Amino acid sequence: MATLFTKIINREIPAKIVYETDKVCAFQDIHPQAPHHIVIVPKAEIPTINDLTPETAHYVGDLFLAAKEIATQLGVTEKGYRVVMNCNGDGGQTVFHIHLHLLAGRPMTWPPG
Ligand code: 5GP
Repeated sequence: MATLFTKIINREIPAKIVYETDKVCAFQDIHPQAPHHIVIVPKAEIPTINDLTPETAHYVGDLFLAAKEIATQLGVTEKGYRVVMNCNGDGGQTVFHIHLHLLAGRPMTWPPG
């Protein structure tokens, strides 16, 4: 069964898509944690970081390249931004289709909650 994010990629569930290539899709998070909160997803379904292999690791590079492009579109490259990937329960992952969060538009704190 398709993941929630695949359904967004396939336009079966509405989302505000801000960037798309043949490899990735990015859309506004439904519960934004910053003025800009974009979720960047590979079009391949990989449940968690734990499932990455040498053969699929290139998808992670695609996510970071997309983050750089979106940050440029948002005009936040100089001020800065944060990218986050959660893994499983303690990592705070709720959708099991790997994705990179791009958060920007406010100063971030450390350590994160
Ligand atoms: P995770 O907690 O797995 O790292 O991140 C999943 C993210 O997906 C959360 O920030 C959550 O707000 C977002 N999300 C969950 N369901 C939807 C949805 O239906 N549409 C959009 N646009 N974002 C969603």
